Amino acid sequence: MTNSWNIPHWLEKEVRERDKQCVYCGENFTPASVSKKTCASWEHIINDAKIITRENIALCCCSCNASKGQKKLSTWLQSKYCLDRDIAKEAVAPIIQKAIESGQ
Ligand SMILES: [Zn+2]
Repeated sequence: MTNSWNIPHWLEKEVRERDKQCVYCGENFTPASVSKKTCASWEHIINDAKIITRENIALCCCSCNASKGQKKLSTWLQSKYCLDRDIAKEAVAPIIQKAIESGQ
């Protein structure tokens, strides 16, 4: 059993409990009906839909997801979007810090 992003329900539950805020900018999630920017969206940290692990699946806000797009994490972190919002290694969620340390 998987959701429409091909994420198994056990993993979806685990990630939803871990990522209560955007893993990048720390924004609290809101329903999409409230804001299209701060709604939660599924993020593949390494942009490969085949890597479905607790280390690669995270929840980030729609705004960060749209900005990151297909970019590699380390490349995206250099972008104006991240610089403007102080999205940096020291500020992101531990799951993202681990990904940065492993060279993503
Ligand atoms: Zn965000």
